[in-house]
Amino acid sequence: MRFIADLHVHSHYSRATSKDMSPEGIWKWAQLKGISVIATGDFTHPQWLKELDQKLEPGGSGLFTLKKEYQTDDVPASCKADVSFILSAEVSCIYSKNGKTRRVHSVILAPDLSAAARLNLALSKIGNLKADGRPILGLDAKELLRITLEASPDNLYIPAHAWTPHFSVFGAASGFDSLEECYEELTPHIHAIETGLSSDPLMNWQLSALDRITLVSNSDAHSAAKIGREANIFDTEISYPAMMEAIRTRKGFLGTIEFFPEEGKYHSDGHRDCGVSLTPKETVLHNYRCPTCGKKVTVGVMHRVEKLADREHGYRLTNAPGFTSIIPLPEIIAEGLQCGPNTKKVTALYFAMLEKLGNEFFILLNAPLEDIEQASSPLVREAISRMRSGNVNIAPGYDGEYGKIRIFEDVERREIKGQMKLL
Ligand SMILES: [Zn+2]
Ligand SMILES: [Zn+2]
Repeated sequence: MRFIADLHVHSHYSRATSKDMSPEGIWKWAQLKGISVIATGDFTHPQWLKELDQKLEPGGSGLFTLKKEYQTDDVPASCKADVSFILSAEVSCIYSKNGKTRRVHSVILAPDLSAAARLNLALSKIGNLKADGRPILGLDAKELLRITLEASPDNLYIPAHAWTPHFSVFGAASGFDSLEECYEELTPHIHAIETGLSSDPLMNWQLSALDRITLVSNSDAHSAAKIGREANIFDTEISYPAMMEAIRTRKGFLGTIEFFPEEGKYHSDGHRDCGVSLTPKETVLHNYRCPTCGKKVTVGVMHRVEKLADREHGYRLTNAPGFTSIIPLPEIIAEGLQCGPNTKKVTALYFAMLEKLGNEFFILLNAPLEDIEQASSPLVREAISRMRSGNVNIAPGYDGEYGKIRIFEDVERREIKGQMKLL
């Protein structure tokens, strides 16, 4: 069965995370988005694990469902669907290795509550798991991998958002030049990396060292509406062992749904305070200093990929799962209506479209354009059509600033609106 899964989110116990990241909120928004398997996030947090134990029940084969009494009735009929939860957590390791400070985030998936509890017990001896839903441990990422596998051989360890500058295995600021440098003899246990919002498979295929690695994508959502902004497409039965097998072998792993990487907040280089965005070449030209203030620039994902790559951009790895690039529907509607994505107008049309057409992924990927136009406007239809063909302009993100999307030039917008009036 073909389905969409998002394997990395955070609970309301993580720093800077919305209250709506509760089991009920995650369950509801998974349906609005069209996600069949959604991460619990934060299973290392004792109170969150307790809440999960209280509100979820085992659904068989390593996944969980929300108990009936917690299911709310505010999901439109057009979006109602079964949702399974998969136990997930993220751990932040800060340590020093080979003379440098390393900061590496890792996603861990677990097959059952006892495997999660065993891992928590081991990690609680190293640091405080209660302080944050995403705990910070003074632990070598390689040791975290070892401890994860000792807690259960069925646990899966995935380097998180592998290219972000400050907190990842390949990050420019505190990462490594290869998986082997980080994980040494345990490297064969790395089956997948998370590409993060600022990179896509096309960029990762530039490294032959990653040819055997499955490229997964997740939302890392800190609020419910951001669930599924990136996700994975599986074609397996909906079970923990089947999904893990698909990630390990890529059989039944159909690929990912991705941001256009320019939209991610660390795609290019730059210095946010000065509003300075630089290409990798410009950064080198300016000696890694901000041309306005002279501070060191934050080296982004594209630069870092180019540095470690042994292939040109555009190389397509044969037999690798593919990917589809999307823009979140509220941002598309905002482009169509020419207002901010968080305005009431956008929210109203967003929910009206969901009610008429179905979940967000269906609208973005599959809904017939005529139906989209009927449920919205010719501009929204045209925007989705352009997104589907990759015909969009994005000023790339840098140093923590998201990229800015532009689908229409003003003159085009007037033309499309003019045609509307004639009809
Ligand atoms: Zn992280
Ligand atoms: Zn500056």
